[in-house]
This record gives sequence, structure tokens and C-alpha cells, in this order.
Amino acid sequence: MQISESQDLYRRVDDTEERPYRCFRGLPSELLERNQPSMSSYQIAVLKGDGIGPDVVDEALRVLDAAGGPVLSFSEHPSGADCYKETGDPLPEASVEACRQADAVLLGAMGLPDVRWPDGTEMRPQVDLRFLLDLYAGLRPIYLYTADHCPLKGYGPGDIDFVLLRENVEGLFASMNGGIQLRGEMAVDSMVITRTGTERIVRYAFELAQQRSGARSGNPPGRVTCVDKANIFRSMAFFRQIFDEVGTGYPAITADHAYVDAMALYLVRQPQTYDVLVAENMFGDILSDLAAGLVGGLGMAPSGDIGEDAAVFQPVHGTAPDIAGQGVANPVGTILSAAMMWRWLGHRHDDEEALAAAARIEDAVRLVLADKKAATPDIGGTMKTHELGQAIAAACN
Ligand code: NAD
Repeated sequence: MQISESQDLYRRVDDTEERPYRCFRGLPSELLERNQPSMSSYQIAVLKGDGIGPDVVDEALRVLDAAGGPVLSFSEHPSGADCYKETGDPLPEASVEACRQADAVLLGAMGLPDVRWPDGTEMRPQVDLRFLLDLYAGLRPIYLYTADHCPLKGYGPGDIDFVLLRENVEGLFASMNGGIQLRGEMAVDSMVITRTGTERIVRYAFELAQQRSGARSGNPPGRVTCVDKANIFRSMAFFRQIFDEVGTGYPAITADHAYVDAMALYLVRQPQTYDVLVAENMFGDILSDLAAGLVGGLGMAPSGDIGEDAAVFQPVHGTAPDIAGQGVANPVGTILSAAMMWRWLGHRHDDEEALAAAARIEDAVRLVLADKKAATPDIGGTMKTHELGQAIAAACN
């Protein structure tokens, strides 16, 4: 394994001929239980949430329907800030249980800035679910579909193609509900890094890099970059130490590090050099919005929150109160999250039909977005949410 600082390893990934699109977003099959029985149909729990959540989920459902594949049966469950206003509970136990019982969960977005707990924090059932279902791997693929979506000069389709892996259930978020505020004078939230939690997310990152590398033409070496703040914090030095230990088991993968502040610069200056990034929860949270900005904004970014026994698929964005109710939200991030769901189910159950359905959706998105006019306002167009959803659904056939 090579260990060096990130900036020493800048290189342009020059494999434009055959992009690893199909595995992009890799859900490292080695980490999935392969012995799950093959399924003829899947139960999907749907949590639409607040703001633009229902609009974008509806388009994902439209596309799933058009893409065909194994039978999906959907059940919708209440959750979110509006649910809190109606029932006093943003995440009823029955909704959690439905997510536990489902084969996968499709989620829109939750939370509204003016709906808060007495301690000043917001309703965040989407984050609570990660803890309740132990969805430790926050998988956030970043892929540039068209040059017009990128605020940087000189980048074309596929030139930006990396995955940000966010540790989802510890780090600074471990303090959720556990921080303290004293005498109106001070408040403390703590960073929690465990060996077990770090080993599993880092192993996931290396497996993912291995899989992405194997799918590229010529099999160029994969690369995993540890994003931390190991120059200052013991917790982060520990995170890096474990990263280095786990990395020795993957000699074919290039491993390097970058401090999170520098990474904010590197992602803007040279995003093409990255393959898989792995970061503590809060750092991953912040960098994933920056990364989405490289490829068209939050409306373009899909995600999967993956655990051993459950997975939730949702766009990276929030409820976008500034555009809610206007019918202009970009549904692509949610539609690509639905494709990730098919891919995860396909690997988990050795289901070729599910994988084929994922590929149909991914290909349809790529085909539709190649036309500049196929865009909602956030990516320079005038289409409504349902129009873009309909166009992608039509391209699935
Ligand atoms: P946000 O992601 O909702 O919006 C940030 C900006 O991106 C806004 O200008 C918005 O219009 C734009 N945007 C987001 N999604 C878009 C889409 N699909 N199409 C076009 N433009 C889009 O972030 P915020 O404003 O910081 O948060 C709003 C609410 O959402 C808050 O209550 C927050 O807690 C919640 N939130 C929820 C999640 C989630 O459910 N996973 C994630 C982030 C924020």
C-alpha cells in the first residue's frame, strides 16, 4: 500500500473510453450477504417526507414503474416535520418497524427549518433512521453527466466520477441528542470515533475502490483517500491510524490522506483525481454538498445509507423550502437513488433482473440529460419536476 499525502497523487484518470458507470456507485458486493434468497418481488417502504420530498419521490416511483424488473410492492409511511405537527411524533414506531420489515426503503427528504425541538434542533427522522437501523455507510456517488452542469471549466461527461463515503452513525453525529448546554453559557457536542465503526467504514471504502477499479477498462488501480483532521484532533489521528491499518490489507489500492480543509480546496481544483473518499460523519456531510455542487447541485446527487440488514435510498438534498410547492424540484438525485436501490437489491439477492433494471434507469438518465433542454431550473432548464420525470421514464422503455 502506498501512503502519501493526497496532493502527491494528483493524476487525471484517463479512462474515458469505458467509464465504470455500471458499477459506479458501487455497492461492494463482497460486503453484502450473498446468501439471501433470490426474490420474485420486493417490499419497498416509502417515506416521502416534507417539502419537495413527495414531488421527487413520485417521479422516482414513476421511473421505477417504467423501468420494469422484478415486482416491487410499495407501502407508504408517515414521517417528517409535517408528521410531527399532525401527530406529535416525526418518526412513529410503526414507520420504523415498516422500514425494518421492508427489503429496502425509499425516502424523499425531511425536516423544516421552523419545526424544532425545544432544544433548538430540528426534526431529523432521516438521521434517526440511520442510527435505528445501523446504516453505517453513507454512499454518495458524484458523477458529471454534462459539461453544462459543472461550474468548473473544462470538465465533460464522466470527467468527475468519485464516491464520497460518509461514516453515518458516529463521529460528531454520535452526540445527537447527547450534547449539553450549561447555564446558557456554553454548549458541548463530542466527536466519537470507535475502532469497530472506523474499521467497517474504511473496509467498505477499500472494497468499493477494488470493485470500481475492476470495472474500469485496463483495471487502473483504485484509490481511497482518508479525509480527516489528524493534525489537530486525537479522534482524527485515531481514524487515520485505523485507515492505515485496514489499508495494508489492500496492497493493490492506492491509499492516501488529506485534511478536510484542504480537501474542500482539492475538490474544487482537481475533482477528477479522486476515486473513493472516506470521511467522518460531519466532514462527509459538508463535503457531500460541495461535491454535489461540482455536478449540477443538490438535485443531482443520489445516496444510499447502507447497513448489514437494511438500506435507505434518498437524494442528498433536503426539503428545499425555498422552492417547495412550485413543482420545479430536480428529481434526478432521487431517481438515481432508486437505481442504487435496485443495484443493492440485485447484489444482495443475486438478482440479475434487478441489476438490469438499475442499468435501464441509469442509462435513461444519461440519455435524457444529454439533451441540454432536459433540465429543471437548478440545472439551467425550464422543465417542471414531473416533465423531467416523465422524460426519464419514457427513456427507460
Ligand atoms: P436543501 O438541500 O433543502 O436546499 C439547499 C438548496 O438546494 C436550496 O436552494 C434548494 O432550493 C436547493 N435544492 C435542494 N434540492 C433541490 C432539488 N431537488 N432541485 C432543485 N434545487 C434543490 O438544504 P437546506 O435549505 O439547508 O435545508 C432545508 C431543510 O431540509 C431543513 O429543514 C434541513 O434540516 C432539511 N434537510 C433534510 C435532509 C434530508 O432529509 N436528507 C438533508 C438536508 C437538509
